[in-house]
Amino acid sequence: MEGRSRVDLFEYQARDIFEKHGVPVLGGVVATTPEEARAGAEKLGGGTVVVKAQVKTGGRGKAGGVKLAHSPAEAQEKAEEILGMDIKGHTVHRVMIAQGAKIAEEFYFSVLLDRSNRNYLAMCSVEGGMEIEQLAVERPEALAKVAVDPIVGIDEAKAAEIVETAGFAPELQAPVADVIRKLWTVFTAEDATLVEVNPLVRTEDGAIVALDGKVTLDENASEVRHPDHAELEDAESADPLEAKAKANGLNYVKLDGEVGIIGNGAGLVMSTLDVVAYAGEAHGGVKPANFLDIGGGANAKVMANGLDVILNDPQVKSVFVNVFGGITACDEVAKGIVGALEILGDEATKPLVVRLDGNNVALGRQILADANHPLVTLAETMDGGADKAAELANA
Ligand code: GDP
Ligand code: MN
Repeated sequence: MEGRSRVDLFEYQARDIFEKHGVPVLGGVVATTPEEARAGAEKLGGGTVVVKAQVKTGGRGKAGGVKLAHSPAEAQEKAEEILGMDIKGHTVHRVMIAQGAKIAEEFYFSVLLDRSNRNYLAMCSVEGGMEIEQLAVERPEALAKVAVDPIVGIDEAKAAEIVETAGFAPELQAPVADVIRKLWTVFTAEDATLVEVNPLVRTEDGAIVALDGKVTLDENASEVRHPDHAELEDAESADPLEAKAKANGLNYVKLDGEVGIIGNGAGLVMSTLDVVAYAGEAHGGVKPANFLDIGGGANAKVMANGLDVILNDPQVKSVFVNVFGGITACDEVAKGIVGALEILGDEATKPLVVRLDGNNVALGRQILADANHPLVTLAETMDGGADKAAELANA
């Protein structure tokens, strides 16, 4: 796992890949100038289009980076407004002119690599539009999480289970399941580690369409198996914390709260966000500060890199480390935490709550107890750890 790196694609690149694999999408043309935007809108038939900022971050809609235009002239105007805009530290250099959709309902779907369990995790909700990390925190009961066996993949039965668990209306289950299976084809054929559609929509005329896509490719697989992926890369400045995390191969998303989160495996980290948000309600409304999946190799270096990113977030008041020892057993993880605190020295200034479970848990806890670091509190359970971390963040 060491040295693994990922390439996030722009929405227009995800759209093209979706189309290639038969996922229903709408027409889209990329433009770097307002004039090109106008030409793009003409090419799409001259009707209503959506001008969308192409930046590798979510929440573009809220930031004013997604605008409806009813004519090519208006598309040019909107592109003029959006190009050059700053969205969460990303400068907009391109827009996509997308065919307008009449949206009846917005849903959410994603599938990602879950390293802690060595399988995949599908997430699905009939409440789309909101960012997933926010949905997981604010409406966890509305988010279905379904494990996907890597050998079997998302077959007909699994797709049916996903739409059923998410609570789709009976008449929507078959068409949505069909799109989900095509998205699974994208995931496997392109060696992706994440395929996310938000929103997946039902249009007024009853079609299921992927309106916004996010795809992360496994760069290691890319070089060998997908020479065409090389041209999808770009080195663009991002949020400094996210850029730092990415440079270290960490899967990090900045959120708006006070409790830093570190876990291994996307599924575990998602659950950790839930319990911390819930625990925070009793402690002044504190919330998770980030999503951070350190993956399978939770050794000292990886742990130090993760802690370093989180401790550099000025909003963070406490950190909850929630690790399940698998291939890397708990004693290794514990040594990793102790080693990370040594590496960070005076830079580590915020309280850490650590909950370990899984292989060699007793030994892992012993190592942390022996190290007796003044900033570290051991927790027995995930709920207990979340509660303690929330309490410390609110102190
Ligand atoms: P994000 O905010 O970065 O995730 O960007 P999205 O592509 O998801 O767009 C944000 C929101 O804009 C969506 O949830 C939709 O509500 C709206 N939107 C996007 N495309 C269209 C479209 O073609 N027609 C309409 N009416 N709304 C759209
Ligand atoms: Mn979206």
